[in-house]
Amino acid sequence: MNAPHPLPGVTTPPQHFIGNRWVAPAGGETLPMVDPSDGAVFAQIARGTAADIDRAVKAAQAARDGAWGRTAPVDKGRALARLARAILDHAEELAFLEARDCGKPLKQARADAAACARYFEFYGGACDKFHGETIPYPAGYTVLTWREPHGVTGHIIPWNYPLQIFGRSIGGALAAGNACVVKPAEDACLSLLRVAELAAECGLPEGALNIVTGLGSEAGAALAAHPGIEHISFTGSPATGAGVATEAARRHCPVTLELGGKGPQIVFADADLDAALPVLANAIIQNAGQTCSAGSRLLVEQSRYEEVLSRLGERFAALKVGPAFADLDCGPLIRAGQLARVRDFLAEAERDGVATVAKGSIAADAPSTGYYVEPRLLRDVPSTCRLACQEVFGPVLAAMPFADEADAVRLANSTDFGLVAGVWTGNGARQLRMARAVKSGQVFINNYGAGGGVELPFGGVKSSGYGREKGFEALYGFTALKTVVLQHG
Ligand code: NAD
Repeated sequence: MNAPHPLPGVTTPPQHFIGNRWVAPAGGETLPMVDPSDGAVFAQIARGTAADIDRAVKAAQAARDGAWGRTAPVDKGRALARLARAILDHAEELAFLEARDCGKPLKQARADAAACARYFEFYGGACDKFHGETIPYPAGYTVLTWREPHGVTGHIIPWNYPLQIFGRSIGGALAAGNACVVKPAEDACLSLLRVAELAAECGLPEGALNIVTGLGSEAGAALAAHPGIEHISFTGSPATGAGVATEAARRHCPVTLELGGKGPQIVFADADLDAALPVLANAIIQNAGQTCSAGSRLLVEQSRYEEVLSRLGERFAALKVGPAFADLDCGPLIRAGQLARVRDFLAEAERDGVATVAKGSIAADAPSTGYYVEPRLLRDVPSTCRLACQEVFGPVLAAMPFADEADAVRLANSTDFGLVAGVWTGNGARQLRMARAVKSGQVFINNYGAGGGVELPFGGVKSSGYGREKGFEALYGFTALKTVVLQHG
């Protein structure tokens, strides 16, 4: 199946979306968009510079001080609800764009479009339900707290789930009353330009949502450094996140960092394997393992280790990889460099003597120029091995046995990350002990939620970042608390 042409939302020549208009890049330059399924250039985007970011920030400031700032919460909510509806109405075209851009199977792209809509639906409903408090204080005083928007928020989005992460970050920021400047990833951003266009059609005032495309080192760095940005939400790699936070700290700008993960999936001997196995596989296969919350480490209690490997191995051996529009279990990786990186991890593990239990296969008709790698289940991976403690960002599951609960906790906490963990056990007391002992922003017990759950506060500890998005909790991060102390006698 081929993607529809012309691509919706892709302008010729390529432009940014600023103040509800298509705007030519100040530098006049463009960047090629490569289809990961065949490695061919299929579109161009505008190459943003500091001048474009500045223009977007000014548009957002005008919205903050003007139409969007004055919009009543109930009407903000209605605008976001209209956008949610429009995303659902255009879900198929958005999914096609996302599949083409990211290389993800169409069914995953469809799920991402639905999730994006759900964020705007959720946060649209929250606009007029988020409020401050009164605080008991001595007689003669009234103390109030107000939740005020930061003003202009900057959002740096990665390529792995553009629609989902955009919805998560921008939905919360707009609901809290901010005006947004978005810098999507240079590898995949076409769907977001289309959503911004839909937002304008839905009546979002000029400047409330602005998108500047381009390179991280140019447009991204300019956004992180811009004095008009009053809060930054960054989702991406730990190294880039540290750089963005350092830049923001120079001007005391608050930052939310949603970074990487090395999710442990911990299976005790009393686990219901029939329920666990499909979830364990999907937690690493989804989006070809290019998921921050992927369950990329499998820790299994010794007595059932061989059984789990054998049964899971059958699943891995049956996995098929191919072009996005073939809609198989996995698509290609995002770019040639990422494919080389994953191969490098695998070669190193092989040199270290790590054995492969099973691997999937690449469809015979997948273009040889695409960025494909077979999903793999690896066994007895030493916890010190690079593949066991660093993010591979590919469909590679590293299995290791554990002796007892203490050993499981030690292994689970043995990486620098702490984003999402899964625990499989029927023992209620152990469920809670493990949930407490594992250092992680989220712990799933007898289920695993790689990416799901709009309502669930999400974010990491340690090198996985700080601050929370998703759920109602995100609204605290997207606002500043003001305490008002009134003495009236
Ligand atoms: P990346 O850090 O290279 O890029 C992320 C974004 O940052 C892109 O938009 C990029 O253009 C921009 N960027 C790059 N250099 C920049 C700079 N100097 N200044 C400002 N912006 C810059 O990460 P990536 O490779 O695109 O994404 C993969 C990483 O993201 C993985 O580590 C993954 O775990 C993480 N991730 C985390 C979450 C989460 O919610 N925690 C979600 C998705 C991805």
